[in-house]
Amino acid sequence: MNPSEKPIYVTQPFLPPLDELQPYLKQIWESKQLTNGGPFHQELERKLADYLGVEHIALLSNGTLALVTALQTLRITGEVITTPFSFVATSHSLLWNGIRPVFVDIEPVTLNLDPEKIEAAITPHTTAILPVHVYGKPSDVDNIQKIADIYGLKVIYDAAHSFGVKYKDESLLKHGDLSILSFHATKVFNTFEGGAIVCPDAKTKRRVDDLKNFGFANEVTVVAPGINAKMNELQAAIGLLQLKYIDKAIERRREIDTQYREQLSRVTGITCPSLPPDTVYNHAYFPILVEKEYPLSRDGLYDKLRQHNIFPRRYFYPLISDFPMYRGLPSAVQSNLPVARKVADKVLCLPIYPLLTSEAQEQVIDLIAGN
Ligand SMILES: *Cc1c(COP(=O)(O)O)cnc(C)c1O
Repeated sequence: MNPSEKPIYVTQPFLPPLDELQPYLKQIWESKQLTNGGPFHQELERKLADYLGVEHIALLSNGTLALVTALQTLRITGEVITTPFSFVATSHSLLWNGIRPVFVDIEPVTLNLDPEKIEAAITPHTTAILPVHVYGKPSDVDNIQKIADIYGLKVIYDAAHSFGVKYKDESLLKHGDLSILSFHATKVFNTFEGGAIVCPDAKTKRRVDDLKNFGFANEVTVVAPGINAKMNELQAAIGLLQLKYIDKAIERRREIDTQYREQLSRVTGITCPSLPPDTVYNHAYFPILVEKEYPLSRDGLYDKLRQHNIFPRRYFYPLISDFPMYRGLPSAVQSNLPVARKVADKVLCLPIYPLLTSEAQEQVIDLIAGN
């Protein structure tokens, strides 16, 4: 097979038609309101809350600062229980707040934090749990909440992958004390860079709004050492346009998911983690697990695809707990995280995005199936 001419990446950002942006630009140029809660920012907050089915949402400049700010909103300190199987920003947000991450292993089916292993990691310093809905699939929200209630802990979900996901007929983002979203270019819904915090009430949203603006509560009052994490009007305008196309984009992702699942489940040694029950999924990622029975190792398959100009990603390898700023922590030891380690060594995320052509997808499938 000839290498494909154009590289096929794990994702490609969706962009609305360029001419639709022009009226928004004109309005920004006329009003000269570029940031600080302008009209597009307000409109996007309203429309997103409506679309996602949540009460209150605060927009931020990116998902990482949303995590950092969410932790400050709830005054989280000491130790926080989290997963090593995620993007590094999850744990980085703890270090930025002077909090010690405590890694707990994942559950082999959902690949999310294993609630059965959380209790053993709780100490007198634990103040919160920071789980991730990995690939957008729901964590075991009920059991995590039970533990949090027993021990008086807060729960903040890193829902960076979970835009639009519904669990048991409700937004997944309603669980926990706060959820954060990322609108980075690589995510299901993008504003180039961007993020949000989903809040349970207006009071909490007001605290987030203060914290994302240096801690200003009004012109002369600063209530906390807040950061600058405001979403600007250009980002918000992009978001308003993206919202018009998001349903179609997710629908196309669903088709691609179905096709991969049908074709690859027949390949010996390839496992496609199943779709979660009771969930309306956003198909943010298509992970496969390369098992021992497959003729190539995971990295062998990764290299083979790259030689054909196809660029899958090993999300999430290495584990966060293996990076230098974390590996000295007691909870980072290998024996504490056997499931996460095994999954990190066999996972591969395949290209999935709205404009992926059927031909390109077939090429990916044929290479994996060895046709
Ligand atoms: C993308 C991502 C983030 C960070 O979001 P940014 O908007 O890129 O700052 C945090 N957590 C997870 C799990 C992510 O995938």
